[in-house]
Amino acid sequence: MSSSAPAGTWAIRSSVLWCTGVTLKSLIASSIWRRTRVSCSVLSRRETTVLVREKMKLQEITDGPRSLPPVDGSWSSARLSRSMVADYKPFTFVDGPGVRCALYVSGCPFRCVGCYNQVAQSFRYGNLYTQELEDRILEDLAKPYVAGLSLLGGEPLLNTSVCLQLVRKVRERLPTKTVWAWTGYTWEQLQASMSAGREDQLELLRRLDVLVDGPFIQSRYSSNLAFRGSSNQRIIDVPASLDAGEPIKLVGYRQ
Ligand code: SF4
Repeated sequence: MSSSAPAGTWAIRSSVLWCTGVTLKSLIASSIWRRTRVSCSVLSRRETTVLVREKMKLQEITDGPRSLPPVDGSWSSARLSRSMVADYKPFTFVDGPGVRCALYVSGCPFRCVGCYNQVAQSFRYGNLYTQELEDRILEDLAKPYVAGLSLLGGEPLLNTSVCLQLVRKVRERLPTKTVWAWTGYTWEQLQASMSAGREDQLELLRRLDVLVDGPFIQSRYSSNLAFRGSSNQRIIDVPASLDAGEPIKLVGYRQ
């Protein structure tokens, strides 16, 4: 370790070693984890990885198996998206209110245990998004009985090359249609990602009416939830939330 390390670094590194030596249950009972997390910036990459893995194990004990946490820097549409589409379902009744056109983009790094669409976790799965498909979606959406567009996945916020191109046209040509999107990010994680300069995510978010947020957590699964798989997920009113600077749940759904 460098002699120029900040004061307190030795103590924190000792606590990392301690973390890996104690039982996980005793770690839950202590506040060491919380104190150590705050100071991750002074740890090496390897030590941080150890901590993240330990945290995931803790979460599995307390809350069941979890998805991977978002990784700043390497998780971006520009880096990950191949502009692939897993499926397109015109006139569906299950992905949001009313009759909707649902586009399932390919690729999702959250890898939730129990994911409802595991094949779409690969960014290479399915078929390339084409102009022909876009024209068809816009034509289907224009039907008077269609309420709007639903963007699912895979991860729409990491496929902004596809979703933004489509949603910009929907907003321009079909302004009465609603746009819903499902994401593995929590609202709070998305705000952090956007503050780090993710303009594409911010633009997509601004063009949405509703965001269903958060990863699927198997231990919180319920079949009674409207448009969600697990109770941690929220149906968020996007314009109201952006105005308020905090997530505002959409009225009309038991959450
Ligand atoms: S966020 Fe959704 S698509 Fe991604 S792994 Fe989780 S359940 Fe599957």
